[in-house]
Amino acid sequence: MSNSQALDEFRDEAALFISQAVGSGDACPAYGAILPPGLYEKAMSWQRFCFDRGWAGVHWPREHGGRGLTPEHNVVWHEECATAEVAPYLNLQGLVLAGEAILRSGTPEQRERFLRPTLRNDILWCQLFSEPGAGSDLAGLQASAVLDGDHFVLNGQKVWSSNAQLAQFGILMARTDFELPKHKGITFFLLDMALDGIEVRPIKQMTGDSEFCEVFFSDVEVPSEAVLGDLNGGWAVAMAVLEDERGGAGASGVISLRRRLEKMIRGLGEVNALQLDELAGILNRGRALQSLMERKGGDPQVAPIAKLMNSELGYDEAQLGSSLEGAQSMLTSASTESLLYSPGMRIAGGSSEIQRNIIGERLLGLPREPRGSPE
Ligand SMILES: Cc1cc2nc3c(=O)[nH]c(=O)nc-3n(C[C@H](O)[C@H](O)[C@H](O)COP(=O)(O)OP(=O)(O)OC[C@H]3O[C@@H](n4cnc5c(N)ncnc54)[C@H](O)[C@@H]3O)c2cc1C
Repeated sequence: MSNSQALDEFRDEAALFISQAVGSGDACPAYGAILPPGLYEKAMSWQRFCFDRGWAGVHWPREHGGRGLTPEHNVVWHEECATAEVAPYLNLQGLVLAGEAILRSGTPEQRERFLRPTLRNDILWCQLFSEPGAGSDLAGLQASAVLDGDHFVLNGQKVWSSNAQLAQFGILMARTDFELPKHKGITFFLLDMALDGIEVRPIKQMTGDSEFCEVFFSDVEVPSEAVLGDLNGGWAVAMAVLEDERGGAGASGVISLRRRLEKMIRGLGEVNALQLDELAGILNRGRALQSLMERKGGDPQVAPIAKLMNSELGYDEAQLGSSLEGAQSMLTSASTESLLYSPGMRIAGGSSEIQRNIIGERLLGLPREPRGSPE
């Protein structure tokens, strides 16, 4: 059987599994990269439902609970979930960021310890990278982990840590050497959130939800087995994680964009020429992104372009949806949630300005912008 026939068969199988799960009420509605606390129970039971039936981590090795298929099969799974408006995984932080990092850089013990429980939903993960003074300039992070015998002593603060109030483990970047150049003194940890000295404080967003948190560390004793990759080698581990995060805006994002635009067009009442022009512009950009993803979706160089186009489209689409709906959208209506949520997507996972810098410097070969502090 050819590769494309195998993928077509898999697509049919996935579509059937998903439609039956939607029919039986087992599937959880789609919610994006971060698990909204209000959907916690539903999303946890959907993840377990998928795991028990061989539909969690289709491209992960069988020995770790996956199905041993290819990354292309995983793309198909995401596309079919997007078509059915169903969540493809519990959260991005666990099934994509932590999971793929452990697959790439974990020891056999770490793979054994974390991968199957992550697929099965015994472990929910959060991402502990950003700090009050280190977001775009991530290498400037100051949380410190000082080696003391067989453990590290962790102190400092993280912020915007999505799902941290629900998580059992976090992927953490902390500085383990203050003497080395800033990119070279960072280590990557798999942090047990139940350790003494960790305090999690949810932050209330303008949507009214609390999806992300501040996390404080006071003399937390972190065992040395928690290091993922090499001591002071955390920057390379984290850069691959950020590439996965940017790449998350794949073909499935385009499918859900197309569905939202179709819904918007179906619900259109009176539109003026200006709104029609804006709508046509968004549709055109959506189609351009779709064909880019179809042609070069797997190319890591495309990831910052897809991330930029996807976040900006989501923002402009929410603004247009609101202007079409009128004043009601400022209160509570179908478009209020996206109006309030979409600005955050231009910041999460690296801001749009930073994506533009990456595209300019790494893809177009433009001169690097002046850096404020030594590398
Ligand atoms: C919804 C959401 C979820 C998030 N979840 C997580 C999470 O789970 N874990 C985590 O660790 N972090 C998370 N973040 C944090 C996110 O990664 C950071 O907010 C982001 O990297 C920007 O960093 P900052 O907020 O410190 O802004 P800053 O870096 O201070 O930037 C402020 C402004 O300056 C601009 N800017 C900064 N540097 C440059 C430059 N060199 N050139 C041009 N413009 C520049 C930025 O684009 C931005 O507009 C989340 C953020 C959001 C909004």
